[in-house]
Amino acid sequence: MAAIGDIVVAAIFGDPIEHSKSPAMHNAAYAALGMSRTYAAFRVTAGNLAPALRAIPALGIIGVNLTVPHKQAAARLIKDLSGEARMLGAVNCVVNRRGVLRGDNTDARGLERDLRDLGCELRGRLAIVIGAGGGAASSVLACFRLGANRVVIVNRTPARAAALARRFSARGIVRAASEPRGLDALMDSALLADARLIVNATSMGLTTGRFARLDYSSTAADCLFYDLIYSGEPTEFVKPAVAAGRRAADGAGMLVNQGELAFKLFNRIAPPAGVMRAALFDALGRAQS
Ligand code: NAP
Repeated sequence: MAAIGDIVVAAIFGDPIEHSKSPAMHNAAYAALGMSRTYAAFRVTAGNLAPALRAIPALGIIGVNLTVPHKQAAARLIKDLSGEARMLGAVNCVVNRRGVLRGDNTDARGLERDLRDLGCELRGRLAIVIGAGGGAASSVLACFRLGANRVVIVNRTPARAAALARRFSARGIVRAASEPRGLDALMDSALLADARLIVNATSMGLTTGRFARLDYSSTAADCLFYDLIYSGEPTEFVKPAVAAGRRAADGAGMLVNQGELAFKLFNRIAPPAGVMRAALFDALGRAQS
């Protein structure tokens, strides 16, 4: 067994952090690879993010994932950002490169990979993204990368949806401007009928217990419902979709994929296939889909 001083540490910072399944996923990969490394969860309050980031090189931590409420604040604190983190205005992983911190974001790539695995074909089609925060930004990017020709951003606060749409069009990465709407768009049967994918990138259903009114019956038979929220049970967004006979998935696959990408950035070695997924589903107490 390695002595404590020999153990290389990676970590996640968030508040709250008790619920995080990232330690289970990363530590399962270390065990499978026989590496004497460990991945720890630290409760870091919003006010302590700056000193916690400064401590990464001081403590020799190889890399850190960031979760709520730190992703956007870190993009303002870290100077060296990947193009994707800069574009999204959010950092979900910080890599310690010989004492210099680099901020990256693996959320959009994680979702893109999961949507491909689910066989979601968006070329020339419409996607609807509900939400206007960091998860929504990653979702819009993933949709355009999958070839969507139109993304409608729907949010409780339409001004935030408009700001997110502007962020994408200003950076010229979208082929067609994304459109901002309020939550009433979820009852617009003509809009819903055109959508091939509807993503929930809000915390609705998690904190409120209920999801907004959405006319599931107007959606096309091939419409995929994807909830960034994941849990041991079907989510409030997914349940009515399944009842209406539509395909649906939650964000567990996205979490696994972004975690696998972060593992490779931190350790310069890919995790063995399937290990992080199995650890997550085990931690969630559910069978692998
Ligand atoms: P965020 O930046 O805080 O954004 C929250 C969004 O939820 C905003 O659009 C907000 O609308 C909306 N919202 C919150 N409460 C609402 C309510 N009661 N009614 C209607 N809208 C409400 O959060 P985020 O980082 O984007 O994360 C969003 C969700 O995605 C979270 O549940 C997070 O856990 C999940 N997520 C999952 C993964 C994964 O790997 N599976 C990755 C990233 C995020 P307003 O703008 O009107 O406030």
